[in-house]
Amino acid sequence: MTAVRLDGTKLAETIRQEIRDKVSARLADGKRAPGLATVLVGDNPASQAYVRSKHKACGEAGMASFGHVLPGDASQEQVNSLVRALNADPAVHGILVQLPLPPGLDEEAVLSEIDLHKDVDGFHPLNIGRLAQKGRDPLFISCTPAGIMELIGQALPDLNGVNAVVLGRSNIVGMPVALLLVRANATVTICHSRTRDLAAACARADVLVAAVGRTEMVRGDWIKPGAVVIDVGINRVEDASRQRGYRLVGDVNFAEAEQKAGWITPVPGGVGPMTIAMLLRNTLRAAELADSA
Ligand code: NDP
Repeated sequence: MTAVRLDGTKLAETIRQEIRDKVSARLADGKRAPGLATVLVGDNPASQAYVRSKHKACGEAGMASFGHVLPGDASQEQVNSLVRALNADPAVHGILVQLPLPPGLDEEAVLSEIDLHKDVDGFHPLNIGRLAQKGRDPLFISCTPAGIMELIGQALPDLNGVNAVVLGRSNIVGMPVALLLVRANATVTICHSRTRDLAAACARADVLVAAVGRTEMVRGDWIKPGAVVIDVGINRVEDASRQRGYRLVGDVNFAEAEQKAGWITPVPGGVGPMTIAMLLRNTLRAAELADSA
């Protein structure tokens, strides 16, 4: 059996088209364009590239975007006060602080400054806390975990009682995905670097989400036949045949896993494009919340 590929690029484009249409309708109604402000501290090239792609995506969706860059030695108060100024700016509906922040800055303190109604990255401690509580709903769900859930939904719309295994327990991917899967009534196992027998845990997974950042760690024989496999990992592997000298691969050995899984995401072209689509969706939602405030 060869798995069905879950095409994140295509799904993200469909979602982005829906968002473009809604933004056009807002503008035709005389409402403000949704606005995203980014805060980049320092000059990390990867962070700069991520921020650039977010601004480009906003422009393509008809949204406004405002880039703010602070030097790598900015003080905690400088970053916090920039966030407070953006909270007060009515043209800014969503605020995204690009992580990681340079050493010495308190990430949680910065994220806590963001107005809950503008927390389009979903990393405000209150939004994360609500995700973990029964009967409470976060205002925004973080973008990569939300994109992962959309992809899983393409394969398995009903997760009631399915066994889901999440490899990784980070604040930005593993843990929020696990919480979302629990909320969708899956039975969830979270694995991490101290888990004893990863292969045995994975073998029970109807849904397997790999978010560890280890090149092709998940082998084909770990996978339950027919499982939904979501590969979040983005790892660089040297490749002299490519102009840039490397290629991107996931945490799952795709060639092997594709022979066992029922559905699988490729890397690139799986989870990555969904992250930006979810950011645009959250920014539009933030603008809608501001309309009704
Ligand atoms: P982190 O490094 O923050 O977390 C990695 C997690 O994997 C940790 O919980 C760690 O366990 C666990 N882990 C590490 N090694 C092993 C191992 N050998 N066996 C079992 N568990 C292990 O990474 P992120 O969550 O930030 O990112 C994970 C991957 O997803 C990366 O490749 C990253 O580039 C990618 N990513 C992709 C995105 C996208 O849009 N597609 C967005 C964000 C991330 P422990 O907690 O015990 O240390």
